[in-house]
Amino acid sequence: MARPRKPEDPDSFQPCDRCGKCYSPAAWWPEGVVCGYCYQAAKRTTGRCPCGHEGVLPGLIDGAPVCRRCSGITLNVDCVECGAETELYRGGCCLRCILKYTATELLRSPDTGEIDPKLTVIVDALGAMERPNSGLTWIRQAHVKTFLKALAAQKEITHEAVDTLPPSRTTNYVRALLAEHGVLPVRDELLARFEVWAINKQAKVIDTEQQMIIDQFRRWGLLRHLRSSSPISNSAFLRAKQSFTVAIEFCNWLTLERGLTVTQISQHELDAWQAGGTSTRGHVYRFIRWAIATRIIPSYLTLVPHRRGTAARLDAESQTAAVDKAVYADDLTDRDRLAAILIIVFGQPVEKIANLTWDDIVVTDPAVVLHLGEYPIKLPPPLDIPARTLAAGNVNGQTAAHPRSPWVFRGYTPGAHLDPAHLRLRLKPLFAALAARLGTLTELTKTTPVAILAQILGYDATTLEAHARMAGAGYAEYIALRD
Ligand SMILES: [Zn+2]
Ligand SMILES: [Zn+2]
Ligand SMILES: [Zn+2]
Repeated sequence: MARPRKPEDPDSFQPCDRCGKCYSPAAWWPEGVVCGYCYQAAKRTTGRCPCGHEGVLPGLIDGAPVCRRCSGITLNVDCVECGAETELYRGGCCLRCILKYTATELLRSPDTGEIDPKLTVIVDALGAMERPNSGLTWIRQAHVKTFLKALAAQKEITHEAVDTLPPSRTTNYVRALLAEHGVLPVRDELLARFEVWAINKQAKVIDTEQQMIIDQFRRWGLLRHLRSSSPISNSAFLRAKQSFTVAIEFCNWLTLERGLTVTQISQHELDAWQAGGTSTRGHVYRFIRWAIATRIIPSYLTLVPHRRGTAARLDAESQTAAVDKAVYADDLTDRDRLAAILIIVFGQPVEKIANLTWDDIVVTDPAVVLHLGEYPIKLPPPLDIPARTLAAGNVNGQTAAHPRSPWVFRGYTPGAHLDPAHLRLRLKPLFAALAARLGTLTELTKTTPVAILAQILGYDATTLEAHARMAGAGYAEYIALRD
């Protein structure tokens, strides 16, 4: 971000003793005159002086940076607030103190002028950031300021209070930060989102009798199931939304097109519903299954379920090419590399990969060992390199967001793992994750017995058996051998 320099002016200025150029001088140091550019650079030089002092090293002796004492340079680089020796910005304060001050001012209650003790964790988390300037960039945005002020105006800091603020990335981020630091209990955000969304959505049901049925479907057909598997996955969230949306569309279709309610339908209506639109209409399946189970409609009614298992698959040759690219291409991060290897070589779903912790991938000097199922697998070189680099570097290691994170793939939300949807998107230039995984499973089932694969890769044997059938291999006998 170096600004373009002004032209030299030898008529007005003598040459700088550091760079030899004729710019406006900024200081007269023991070594001589120093221009504004060299002065700025000197103030920002930090490290350990040969004398042992650590901090700002403005001096230059035999080309090596040295501290103020060794160089005899007088320079004010002591923060009046925290005492840190670093570049000062405003009022004799360092960037970190300005960041903390800015946050504190925004988070004061408009009523009392005090800051809620719960909100001080935000100030502390920002103050602990490795790079305070990125914290300042964040907090200086108008929408962030507005959000923090609105948060400070809440009577009490609870999930419900945060829910009343406009939903945004900032809202999610700060909520997660508060949860990560124990100020708010950890909540299943997707589940909470579904609850709010579904209540609003069901107002769209036209007929009052069907409104009650849809309300029951929400409570007993969807929410009870979601709550029992909380925290829910992104795909469970999306599936529930789709099932609910299509169930409501079906009810309104019955009202408007047939003048009927769900309790009056026959096979004829179900067939007409499916034939009259896209395959999305098949998602009414969950609603129909629930309605049959609760005896709202007779059990002899049937629906063609939404078809699965016909997705595209990567063939063996493209797989080899993708592995080569994952290992050797320069334009990939170590994180993308490792995820790509887990998909192409081990057929792992993106959702599971995002959930992996450093207990599942154990990096030691002699070997990198994966625990995907019951048996550990050694990752052979060169496939182990991304895992090693990642373990050593611990990317995204910003302390405010991840004070004690177990995740291999850390997310942008504090304390959370990477969003699987985001990972899928990142890998898209390399391959379609689903096609790659299905292709791998097909290839693997050609060469390795299903029962063994199931144990190594952490898959259900019946799922793999379906892949084996796609591959034309009959491994049913191996499943029979399992005890
Ligand atoms: Zn200079
Ligand atoms: Zn020194
Ligand atoms: Zn300071």
